[in-house]
Amino acid sequence: MKTLNDIDFKSKKALVRVDFNVPLNENFEVTDNTRIKAAKPTVIKILEDGGSCVLMSHLGRPKGIQDEFSLRHIVDEVEDVFGVEVGFVNNCIGPEAQKAVAALEPGQILILENLRFYEEEKKGDPDFAHELSLLGDVYVNDAFGTAHRAHASTATVAKFFPDNKCFGALMAKEIESIKRVMESGEKPITAILGGAKVSSKITIIENILDKVDHLIIGGGMTFTFIKAQGGQIGNSLVEEDKLELALEILKMVESKKVEMHLPIDAKIADAFNNDAKTTIAAIDEIPDGWMGLDIGPGTIEKFRAIITSSKTILWNGPLGVFEMPTFSEGTIAVGKAIAEATKAGSFSLVGGGDSVAAAKQFGLAQKMSYVSTGGGAMLESLEGKLLPGIAAIMD
Ligand code: AMP
Repeated sequence: MKTLNDIDFKSKKALVRVDFNVPLNENFEVTDNTRIKAAKPTVIKILEDGGSCVLMSHLGRPKGIQDEFSLRHIVDEVEDVFGVEVGFVNNCIGPEAQKAVAALEPGQILILENLRFYEEEKKGDPDFAHELSLLGDVYVNDAFGTAHRAHASTATVAKFFPDNKCFGALMAKEIESIKRVMESGEKPITAILGGAKVSSKITIIENILDKVDHLIIGGGMTFTFIKAQGGQIGNSLVEEDKLELALEILKMVESKKVEMHLPIDAKIADAFNNDAKTTIAAIDEIPDGWMGLDIGPGTIEKFRAIITSSKTILWNGPLGVFEMPTFSEGTIAVGKAIAEATKAGSFSLVGGGDSVAAAKQFGLAQKMSYVSTGGGAMLESLEGKLLPGIAAIMD
């Protein structure tokens, strides 16, 4: 795995694919600069080595050239975060971009215009990728958030740098964290899978059954497993067409070393509403008219014990409807248990969508070993797929 340390950037122009797809408000101000901060270590390392950076990214989903999606809007924020002056050029290919790159001195940064102003970007078009490749001596991919896309700037362009390409610091960290859970994690390894549906997590479940010692299931997908086993789930979320699949998973688990842990009780509500009437019920005795919206106190205790005695922990998906305070307790408790284990020396990875949002919302993100920056990319990695953006650098 080639990283920044394997390349001498002195006097080189590094073409760096970053993920600056940040949210903007109606005044085109950046409202969350997490992704810009995430790219900083790579950029600063290249500059300190005596190189310069040509940064390329997409922003939003423009249809052709649309000023509202111009990366020009984020230049000030990038300057603030990096603490370095940043140039901008109105195009991401062609003579204008080439001229701006030619004028770049060591220690300088240039941001190219939105890659998705060209439809060739998403098509992975080789001619467009070749045009991009003219803008650097070295190609660095640090955009984990788009690593699962085979686009021109994330995958195709790498072909034009057979010996001069590497992962950026963020990409390297993401890849190492996944490896640490899936390949080289200290045992016992525990995966916590929550969220709404079994259907969206099935490939992850299949992929990790051989890799973990404990599989904790929570969230809405619990009830498909409980109903499949004949339990009463009232009006809880269920995927009727996945009941067979749930039974197959339970059978698969029996033949493996992994222990699967389903909730034993639930906080149930008489409506999908923060102010609904609530009570606690056994997970398989939920009366009609009621639905399980969070794990119950017995489950919290059970899960806590497993988590705090684990050495490696993966968390994907909330344990309940954490967006409503009444049903956030289980997600908070599990997050706290992971934080506690981490403090005691365990490795924890939080990745893939809503668990990241939950960890941030409840002030737990800083207490985890690593919080992934890529939603879809992390999910596909956990499914065992080799992401195009990663494969292109490994080639
Ligand atoms: P996912 O995107 O599959 O990780 O699902 C996340 C969503 O699952 C969140 O919006 C949660 O509110 C929702 N969720 C978690 N637990 C439950 C539950 N018991 N019933 C319904 N939705 C749930």
